[in-house]
Amino acid sequence: RPSRFMPAGHNRIDVSFEFFPPKDEAMEATLWDAITRLAPLMPQFVSVTYGAGGSTRERTHATVKRILAETALTPAAHLTCVAATREEIDGIVRNYHDAGVRHLVALRGDPITGAGDKYTPHPGGYENAAALVAGIKRIAPDFEVSVSAYPERHPDSPTLEADIDTLKRKVDAGATRAITQFFFENDLYFRYLDRVRARGIDIPIVPGILPVQNFGAARNFAARAGATVPAWLAERFAGLDHDPATRKLIAAAVAAEQAIDLLDRGITSFHFYTMNRADLVYAICHLLGLRPQVQEAA
Ligand code: FAD
Repeated sequence: RPSRFMPAGHNRIDVSFEFFPPKDEAMEATLWDAITRLAPLMPQFVSVTYGAGGSTRERTHATVKRILAETALTPAAHLTCVAATREEIDGIVRNYHDAGVRHLVALRGDPITGAGDKYTPHPGGYENAAALVAGIKRIAPDFEVSVSAYPERHPDSPTLEADIDTLKRKVDAGATRAITQFFFENDLYFRYLDRVRARGIDIPIVPGILPVQNFGAARNFAARAGATVPAWLAERFAGLDHDPATRKLIAAAVAAEQAIDLLDRGITSFHFYTMNRADLVYAICHLLGLRPQVQEAA
């Protein structure tokens, strides 16, 4: 039991880390510093996002391939239905399979015009995430497929119930893990979990944790993603606009408090939105009881 907080009956904390593909050499170096720092924590997998509108198709692929070639990590490639025909997406899926990738995160994606606009499927494309999951499973049944889940409801969904129906369709199509949109109130997550279980969905619903490195950016991001930013969180960052050192300590305290409360309440799997930065995530993992594993000499 590496942590005094480890829930009874568990002897392992599973973490996964999400990265975005870099746009230039400087960002590539930042990303690889983060991967190198976090890799010894032996995450269950590391995922690489797919830019809005499929804009990072090549860069996502290149990042995933570099992870396969240069690390012992298990990569998961995100893929969306946006702006591509079924044939094009099937080609990407086959390419990943040929490269040795066995885990995809299947998403609908947002309209090219921007999140919040009405989504229209590409003519000849996959209609939504559930259709994409089924398509992936048809191409290669040995793909592990993760999908999204929204404790506060996806903005396009009329009700939380309808949103949970969408999750059920994705599970019925073959998804075996859901990763949640980030949230700041753990009670929201636990209430959602109760409703998902009551609907007969039994796959892991892994909480997505966003350590807030930049409060302004997180607030804008949350507004588009349909996640609420509680007043107490804004209050904690208030007055620190010109004080990055204190902001960072507060960010660490807030994220630590959230993760440890989840652990205390029985959660043993965590997905971190790293924003390609290791330090906060590394510290929270340490608090959760994870320690770097030294690789055996070959
Ligand atoms: P879906 O699960 O397909 O559902 C979206 C909404 O449409 C839901 O409200 C659902 O209820 C409704 N809906 C779906 N099908 C139906 C139907 N048949 N009838 C009625 N309503 C329906 N975006 C990216 O561009 N790249 C990424 O790499 C990326 N990674 C993400 C990772 C995670 C963990 C999360 C939570 C989100 C990610 N996103 C990413 C954002 C995501 O693409 C957007 O939130 C998008 O708007 C919805 O995609 P989805 O797969 O969640 O959609």
